[in-house]
Amino acid sequence: MSKRSSSRQSLRTRNHKSSSTTANQRQEKQQLLQPIFEKACDAIAVTDDLGCLIEINAASCQLFGLSRKALVGKLLTDFTNADFNFERVRFSVQNGSQQTGELNLLRPDGIRREVEYTLTLNVVPHRHLVILRDITDRKEAAQDELWCQRQWVELFSEVTLKIRQSLQLKEILRATVTEVQRILQADRVLIYQVFPDGTGKAISEAVLPEYPHILDLEFPEEVFPEEYQQLYAQGRVRAIADVHNPDAGLADCLIEFIDQFDIKAKLIVPILQNLNSHQQNESKSQNQLWGLLIAHHCDRPRRWGNFELELMQQLADQISIALAQAQLLENLEEIVEVRTAELKDVNRNLQQEINDRMHAEEALRRSEEQLRLIANALPVLIAYVDKQQRYRFNNQAYEDWLGQSLTEIHGCHLQDVWGEDCYQRMHSHVEAALSGYVVTYENEIALKNGISRSVNITYIPHVDEQNTVKGFFSLVSDISDRKAIERMKDEFISVVSHELRTPLTSLHSALKILVTGRLGTLSTDGQQMLEIADENTERLVRLVNNVLDLQRIESGNFKMEKQACNAADLMIQATEAMQPMAQQHGVTLVTQPVDIQIWADSDYIVQALTNLLSNAIKFSSPSRTVWLTIEFVQQSEVLFSLRDEGQGIPQSKLESIFERFQQVDSSDSRKKGGTGLGLAICRKIIEQHEGRIWAESTLGEGSTFCFTLPALHS
Ligand code: ADP
Repeated sequence: MSKRSSSRQSLRTRNHKSSSTTANQRQEKQQLLQPIFEKACDAIAVTDDLGCLIEINAASCQLFGLSRKALVGKLLTDFTNADFNFERVRFSVQNGSQQTGELNLLRPDGIRREVEYTLTLNVVPHRHLVILRDITDRKEAAQDELWCQRQWVELFSEVTLKIRQSLQLKEILRATVTEVQRILQADRVLIYQVFPDGTGKAISEAVLPEYPHILDLEFPEEVFPEEYQQLYAQGRVRAIADVHNPDAGLADCLIEFIDQFDIKAKLIVPILQNLNSHQQNESKSQNQLWGLLIAHHCDRPRRWGNFELELMQQLADQISIALAQAQLLENLEEIVEVRTAELKDVNRNLQQEINDRMHAEEALRRSEEQLRLIANALPVLIAYVDKQQRYRFNNQAYEDWLGQSLTEIHGCHLQDVWGEDCYQRMHSHVEAALSGYVVTYENEIALKNGISRSVNITYIPHVDEQNTVKGFFSLVSDISDRKAIERMKDEFISVVSHELRTPLTSLHSALKILVTGRLGTLSTDGQQMLEIADENTERLVRLVNNVLDLQRIESGNFKMEKQACNAADLMIQATEAMQPMAQQHGVTLVTQPVDIQIWADSDYIVQALTNLLSNAIKFSSPSRTVWLTIEFVQQSEVLFSLRDEGQGIPQSKLESIFERFQQVDSSDSRKKGGTGLGLAICRKIIEQHEGRIWAESTLGEGSTFCFTLPALHS
């Protein structure tokens, strides 16, 4: 055998040897792999390109619930849900790489299994490896976990709601520990309050009956040192699975302390109180540790889940809110208490005020009733008229006289109640009263039966504290009878005076001649008697003249000759006329005439001035002075003033002296030679000029007589 053939032989032999070795090895491998394949926990299947099952292991039969015979030759998709498409999966996988996914296996016994598959393509050409793992239990566990979490969330909201609904802190804390114990299935849950001195106390607890109570137990400072407090104040949460495990890092004294209560595992979350809860964005340093929410496990160590931790933390936050609310409530209650006391006081005062007011109102009502009774019983018209000239009050007489009801008068304007004509006569007086003057005048009114009555009317202005005229009181009295008598008297006097005047004039002339002695001299006594007779005749003449003057003015049968005249001229004329009398009485007359144009009957105004001057001289002592002045009071009115330094007039007589035959002292007519008619005449003259006349006086110091007249524009 050549070397070459021998070597070829040896190679062949070697090849033969080596191929038999490889076959052996393969067989060996096969023998090794087969049981592994068979005994593998996961279902393993080999498929062709279409997904047809070529080889499967025992776990596959178990997973599919079918025998090998029933499975081999079938398509994998025959047993899966419709979503799983073998070929699509295969095309999406690169050669040699793997694809993992999930599919639903539909077993012939109707049981569904959720399966995770891993597909490795072409483990040998056109042969693909599918490993199937039953994940049904894992999936269900995840579902359970999810369901459990949902349950917890629901329970948590329930507890939160309970906390929020109650304002009683004790009740909130009790509900919290009970619910937490129930949710966490913990053996003990407690709320521990931290006191400022570092000690603390369990103030609420829910514990299974077989374990000792911690409630109301005060913890010594050593088991809860200062540094722990600071850590908790910063928000530290501690979940200790095994308190005895050195990794838990619990101090020996603390372990000794907690052993008394069978504590094996514990979960601690701080309850913080925000000191500036009303301010936004407060840093954590503003938080103060109020206490701890603690869960214990007592029969064995326990690993606390994140969810449990979170739940405890959130509940601790809810307790913080409840604490703030309770604090707020406490403050609120305090405020309410104070406020209630204040309100009670206010109420009492108000009640008192109401009672007082009611009494006052009652008294006022009674007094008003009495006043009304009195006002109604009087035979005069009494009324109150406001600034708008509307009746605000009137007595019964109004209704009786005018035949109008209260509603027809109350609130009505004077003009509507009295009619146009009557109102025209009262208008200027009403204006004067509303300007603040007391006014008295006479008027003619028509009653309900058409009968005309003479009335005396007085308006008294109603002035308030600010000196503003609010209205006026009106008093109207029937003077018809008096007027009738006066008329009769006037007529009588007029007739008598006329009849007296002629013989009196001749008597007076005769006496005057006799007094001169031209017709012979008389004895001294005779002469004296003659002079007395002459003086008295003169007085009688004056009286008759005055009576006739007054009667003439009052009768209205004469017409004043009004024209523009200079007030200064009238003043001078009157003063000059009275100068001799003044000299006789030793009285000085001082006139300050001013050139003012007035609209007047000059003769009558001079008569009025001389009347007033004569009175002023008469009632002044010798060497006294009488001043006559004039001034503008308004643009359209002048005021004449006659001031003397005489005896003065009492206040009560200032009005009445303008009446006929009225004198301050009845002896005046005898002593001063007066008639008591001068001022009445003056008043008539001034009134005929639409002016007003009045007197002001201080007893013993003197009097001032004033009258106004219309002025022409200067
Ligand atoms: P007689 O003619 O009485 O003066 P009058 O009507 O002029 O009548 O005056 C009425 C009364 O008024 C007088 O009697 C007097 O009492 C009083 N009287 C008038 N003027 C004055 C005065 N200037 N000073 C004091 N009393 C006066």
